Amino acid sequence: MLRLGPHISIAKGFSQAAQKDDVYAFAKSTFADDLKRLEALPCALYNFHPGSHTGKGIEYGIQRITTLLNEVLTGDEKLYVLLEGMSGKGTEIGSTFEELRSIIDQVTQSHVLGVCLDTCHLYSAGYDIVNQPDDVIEHFDQIIGLDHLKAIHLNDSKVPFESHKDRHEIIGQGTIGIEALTRVINHSKLRHLPFFLETPNELEGHEVEITKLSALYKDY
Ligand SMILES: [Zn+2]
Repeated sequence: MLRLGPHISIAKGFSQAAQKDDVYAFAKSTFADDLKRLEALPCALYNFHPGSHTGKGIEYGIQRITTLLNEVLTGDEKLYVLLEGMSGKGTEIGSTFEELRSIIDQVTQSHVLGVCLDTCHLYSAGYDIVNQPDDVIEHFDQIIGLDHLKAIHLNDSKVPFESHKDRHEIIGQGTIGIEALTRVINHSKLRHLPFFLETPNELEGHEVEITKLSALYKDY
């Protein structure tokens, strides 16, 4: 069965890598508070954008993120904290598999961490899921490991390949297109994952997308 639904966001997008101490402290307390609330929802997926290094460099940003994760995670969490792969706009961290791997490597309780791939971000970051999906998945497996992949954000894109912009589009109306997205939901290494829509739609539009994609999902 295709597991597909609109994305429900919980306090995501705050800047874990923020260089200002007050922003960092706020991000940390919000993150810790969210995890505490989610204790009531075992097996939840807590997705977040790694943040930006705001000009101080990737290494610095990754060190800030991992410090925060090491300060908050106890290892007893009954959920996965997912690092989302990004499009690489501005000083954003996490647009390459290597950067995501580097974060995982520096977190003590790394068994709590997973990765969420966003089709729009991937394509924008320069991973060609339209023409070479197998190569992208194989590359991910080599660098991070498919066992770390816990969810997919399924979005089309308003912008061309490798443009490093984050502009989601309605399924089938963007540069990725319905054929490539159909291959993603049916791919033998991805089809068991939960897929979340973050397309610029209201509920009715999401209903249309879900109906369309469900019909394109092959039941074996
Ligand atoms: Zn996303």
